[in-house]
Amino acid sequence: MKKDFYSFLEGIFDKKDIETEEDNKYFYSKDWSNLKPSEPVAVVFPREIKQLKEVVKLCNEQNQPFIGSGGRTGLSGGATCLNNELVISFEKMNKIIDFDHSDNTILCEPGLVTENLQNFATENELFYPVNFSSVGSSQIGGNISTNAGGIKVIKYGLTKNYVKGLSVITGDGKDLDFDNRLVKDATGPKLGDLFIGSEGIFGLIKTCRMKLIKKPPPTKLAFISFSEIEKLIEVRNLLFKSEDIEAVEFLTKTCMQKVKDAFKHFSQPDVKGHYFIILEFTGNSIETDLNKLILKKIVDDIFIVETSKQKKNIWNNRLLISESINDFKPLKFDVSVPLSKFECLVQNIERLVKKFSKVEPILFGHVGDGNLHINLIGKDDLVIDNNLKDKLTTEIYKIILGLKGSISAEHGIGYLKKKIFLEQANKEELHFLKATKKFYDPLNVLNPGKLI
Ligand SMILES: Cc1cc2nc3c(=O)[nH]c(=O)nc-3n(C[C@H](O)[C@H](O)[C@H](O)COP(=O)(O)OP(=O)(O)OC[C@H]3O[C@@H](n4cnc5c(N)ncnc54)[C@H](O)[C@@H]3O)c2cc1C
Repeated sequence: MKKDFYSFLEGIFDKKDIETEEDNKYFYSKDWSNLKPSEPVAVVFPREIKQLKEVVKLCNEQNQPFIGSGGRTGLSGGATCLNNELVISFEKMNKIIDFDHSDNTILCEPGLVTENLQNFATENELFYPVNFSSVGSSQIGGNISTNAGGIKVIKYGLTKNYVKGLSVITGDGKDLDFDNRLVKDATGPKLGDLFIGSEGIFGLIKTCRMKLIKKPPPTKLAFISFSEIEKLIEVRNLLFKSEDIEAVEFLTKTCMQKVKDAFKHFSQPDVKGHYFIILEFTGNSIETDLNKLILKKIVDDIFIVETSKQKKNIWNNRLLISESINDFKPLKFDVSVPLSKFECLVQNIERLVKKFSKVEPILFGHVGDGNLHINLIGKDDLVIDNNLKDKLTTEIYKIILGLKGSISAEHGIGYLKKKIFLEQANKEELHFLKATKKFYDPLNVLNPGKLI
């Protein structure tokens, strides 16, 4: 790093909020994708908005690329450095600033860890429903920037449903406030919405106003197993339309095995079958439908639990899958298809992978949203080489597009999916995205090379 640049940083930050040591910089240079990062020029930890504004201004003056960094749990390389960026970590901007009882919204800093927002809601007899495996590390700013989904989308929707206001600093340092506290305001399109799901390329979120909702009634959890993927059609037709469903997730026997291998102490339900559904629900009517599934021999087994401990045990089978295979450096896809095509997608992927005897498919996801996470790992210590990766990637995207699906259901484009995104994106929308990027970040210094 140029000496000048460092001394400018020292003019903005306390020394302990500037990181230049190589190993520590590496830690902040990448997210959960397996992309190889470039070395950041430094990592800084703003504690207040004034510092954020000053450092964005500095980067523009010095033509220094910079990147907003949340919990770095993103899976598409959005928070991975590719241009020796200055990493701006939100780790120390993590407070809840205000709780407004009149509308149950909280105003928070972007670095608030998702789980801490969930806990705050629980302590106040309320509920923040966006939930997924990485809530212990991911941050609200990162959730908004990726419009995170998770396991309860079927009932409660995506992060954007809970964003009631935002304030941002654009790539070129403009201060924008989209938090007018109005429930109704029909004064044209809401430009603040552009920043939701924009993967940190238009600006940095500096405050977020999030909506909390009423706590749902107590839930039960059913663990359903079946042997043929076609049976999913009947399960879906009978169950998925019910408003009593809070979550409905899919996993395979291989996923269960991987979780068991990685977490040896772990006890799992002793059930037959190759495919499993975890169904979280309220009320009593679902249990009648579950009985029908057994009586009609559509499914092999159903296991219902209701204590928090039992529910947590069952959920772990799903929520620990990614972690259990992370060391295999899987080739990952996060795709969605229309609900009615989900079983067809699973069949096609299983058929494809069978052609490659040393590749093992780990398939799981949010079946209620048509969202499948496809992870491919090598069997017997085989590393899937780049040639094979390219071949598998081409074939998988062919399947997805053939089923009129999406190449990214919830993990965004980042860098990993940029090529395929640019190939198949709507040209008008792309033109608009590029023009917006130029408007908010004319020097292309904020997270360059991502998304578009
Ligand atoms: C095991 C595992 C399971 C997951 N499950 C799900 C799931 O079910 N559903 C789902 O949607 N996602 C899931 N994810 C993906 C990821 O956790 C989410 O996308 C999460 O919202 C990312 O938040 P983060 O704070 O880690 O963001 P990061 O990874 O740090 O950043 C993501 C993007 O946001 C930008 N950014 C971060 N903070 C800001 C800010 N303040 N202002 C502007 N831009 C910013 C970054 O530059 C980057 O482009 C999972 C990830 C893991 C590792």
